[in-house]
Amino acid sequence: MGFQTHILEALSELEAAGLLRRPLRVSGPQGPEIEIDGKHVLCFCSNNYLGLADHPAIAAAAEASARTEGVGAAASRLITGTMDAHREAEIAFADFVQAPDALLFSTGYSANVGTIQALVGPGDAVFSDALNHASLIDGCRLSRADIHVYSHRDVDHLESLLRKHRPQARRAMIITDSLFSMDGVISPLRDIASLSRSFDVGLLVDEAHSLGVFGPNGRGLCAAQGVEPDVIVGTLGKSFGVAGAFVAAPEATVSLIRNRARSFVYSTAPPPMVARAANAALRLVREADDARTTLLAHANQLRSELRALGFDVPDGNSQILPVLIGENNRTMQLSAKLLDRGVFVQGIRPPTVPEGTARLRLTPMATHRPEHIERALDAFASIVRDE
Ligand code: PMP
Repeated sequence: MGFQTHILEALSELEAAGLLRRPLRVSGPQGPEIEIDGKHVLCFCSNNYLGLADHPAIAAAAEASARTEGVGAAASRLITGTMDAHREAEIAFADFVQAPDALLFSTGYSANVGTIQALVGPGDAVFSDALNHASLIDGCRLSRADIHVYSHRDVDHLESLLRKHRPQARRAMIITDSLFSMDGVISPLRDIASLSRSFDVGLLVDEAHSLGVFGPNGRGLCAAQGVEPDVIVGTLGKSFGVAGAFVAAPEATVSLIRNRARSFVYSTAPPPMVARAANAALRLVREADDARTTLLAHANQLRSELRALGFDVPDGNSQILPVLIGENNRTMQLSAKLLDRGVFVQGIRPPTVPEGTARLRLTPMATHRPEHIERALDAFASIVRDE
């Protein structure tokens, strides 16, 4: 069979399983209302939680930087790509999460992959939550450390795995999301941190979805719960509305990551305007208490009213609401029906979520107005009426 035939076969297998993705295309900026495939709709599935993706102050920071510092960083960070913009943002983000130092990455994906691979290797062990983000999973695999997956948020299971496998490992690290991106539930960070101390293992927490939303000044769930992990990963494409990520840790840890993380060392530095934009976003995020309150109020209203309509929305107290459907095609059908009614909620299918748990992942924004929430709920209600 020819190579192209293999490719066509793989595509038709995806199609038959209801797993073929065809992204729709947005024209104009991201926000509560977007134009997607030429249709004006409400957006209820972005990670633009605070509505900052098109904020004029952030755009102005990027624009000013592009004019004065240029667009390209011209090389990797260890050659000539470390510019004032990068270091200033690193210092600002370290200060934000009250860590001694931080390192910028072009994406959260590369931050997680690079950081884990830099900190553990063959002969070491990682203990990883079963529902961790793909980038954490890939980082574990790439590190070639022994991987022990504990049941989702199950501290007892984690402890039994630590008892069994910690003694043989040279170094070890526990790895968890703080707010799980597809389920909207929070990790038991205090219990995990206490296990990390008693078993003498490092702790890496990915705060991608919690920074900007939880904690004092949006500093995240570790800050909210008084937990100080060895490494915090924060992404800048969600609440911050920009792109990229930072890894915050003690200076020595940052130095080792800077030296060893292949996705850092062998990759062109992010454009300085991205670092400037992220730094401008940080100033807005710190001051966004009202937006955080509005965002979580929207989420609570959506959760309780969707449940009243008969939808399966599990308990949770975050801005991420999974509406569990189960079957892949059925999920995509519902997503299409919502889009027909002017509301965009993308369906999420395996392998992003476990088999049989396809869902609509509904995420409000602080900038949704009350009538936007009502219109979204009306769209769900009209589907229930029509079926
Ligand atoms: N960690 C988590 C928990 C995420 O949800 C994501 C992306 N959705 C990432 C890391 C990767 O971040 P980025 O999109 O910046 O690559």
